[in-house]
Amino acid sequence: MSEFILTAPYIFTNSEDYPLLKSGAVLVENGIISEISSTGDAKRKHPDIEEINFSEGLLTPGLVNLHHHLYSSFACGWNPGGSPPEDFLQILNNVWWKLDKSLQLEDIYYSAMIGLCQSLKMGVTSVVDHHASQRTVTGSLDSIAKAFKDVDVKGSICFELTDREGDKLFEEGLQETTDALSKWSGKSNSSKIMAMIGLHASFTLSDDSLKRISENFSSFDVGYHFHLAEDKSDQVDSIRQHGLRVTHRFEKFGILGPKSLAIHGVHLNDDEAGLLRETQTNLVLCARSNQNNAVSLPDWRKYDGVNIGLGTDGIGSDMVGEAKSALYISHHVFGDPSFGFADIGNMLLNKNPEILQKITGLKTGKIEPGYPADMVLWRYDPPTPLTDENILGHYFYGLYNLQADSVWVDGNMILKNSDFTNFHYAELVGESRLRAKKLWERM
Ligand SMILES: [Zn+2]
Repeated sequence: MSEFILTAPYIFTNSEDYPLLKSGAVLVENGIISEISSTGDAKRKHPDIEEINFSEGLLTPGLVNLHHHLYSSFACGWNPGGSPPEDFLQILNNVWWKLDKSLQLEDIYYSAMIGLCQSLKMGVTSVVDHHASQRTVTGSLDSIAKAFKDVDVKGSICFELTDREGDKLFEEGLQETTDALSKWSGKSNSSKIMAMIGLHASFTLSDDSLKRISENFSSFDVGYHFHLAEDKSDQVDSIRQHGLRVTHRFEKFGILGPKSLAIHGVHLNDDEAGLLRETQTNLVLCARSNQNNAVSLPDWRKYDGVNIGLGTDGIGSDMVGEAKSALYISHHVFGDPSFGFADIGNMLLNKNPEILQKITGLKTGKIEPGYPADMVLWRYDPPTPLTDENILGHYFYGLYNLQADSVWVDGNMILKNSDFTNFHYAELVGESRLRAKKLWERM
């Protein structure tokens, strides 16, 4: 359907001119939003264009997840065995690295499919993924790209470069990244995904490796996607081995910049926050992951002027839930219930799409003429008045445990009445369970 009019009782456009429309209509032509009006005006002006009418519900722009690990979909319910990990490094060693080293290409595809489907169900239409499968490197990003195409979601992919599995696999990672950049970057790339240069973290990359990486990719106009001071041990290692705090170490190798995505930034001092600000490096908070890993919470009250967004870090795919958690834990830890409401709402609705556009060129986040038709219909009949002024209150305290009813990406309706239109979801989940069981048995 190249042209259609969507009508709903409530449309939150996230546009400055008309943030909330009641009984509004959106005209979509060739995947792009071309007009916003009242239902009556739209029908009078375009009597021959098909109307999709929702008698109940709230239409909003699709959300953006700035940091995901789609392969983590296969960790749900897995018991890694042994003693429970007692610190961050044990969590990596005993859980995540054990899992990623056992992934095969089919696992990578199916876990990505599941993570992307879960994202859509939570109203997330753009996903920035950070992938690791250190024993199945070659072709891993093709598998993830295929999942993005099959689910029809937009976003970014990268392979995690690290020294932790030795020189040969590091070289293979470099090649996988080069191949990905040649396929999914630059102006000739017409797909819905853009590749980035993925790094694990300072403490698993030597100076030689960082030098190789920055030299190798200097001709590509793309940013880096890396974990920054997630745990205190990252800073301790960098200072001890290299005499620099991690942010300064990354700056030395040209890793920072307006197209780069630094994840976590839990243990930064004021100087490092200043460096992120000066270099316009984007920082992504992952509050639920920080709580789960007990690595502390970044004191982002001190990160004034830094471009900050939100991501799930593989703890599910629910961005409204992530924002709520960031808000509640900030209240709790900082002992200030007045802190963060507008800022975190701004990250969820504005900063995340702005950062996505900076790092990939992909435009999303508003129901406004000229924007791609990335939209979500929630079966939400507001139990209290919904207005321009209190929309954030409905995101934080109203859209509880709500899944999307229908989702459009670039005007394609890929979720309809909570079911996927491009494939049989029950079959996908059945295959996923079989693959996950075999993966668990291999570990
Ligand atoms: Zn991560």
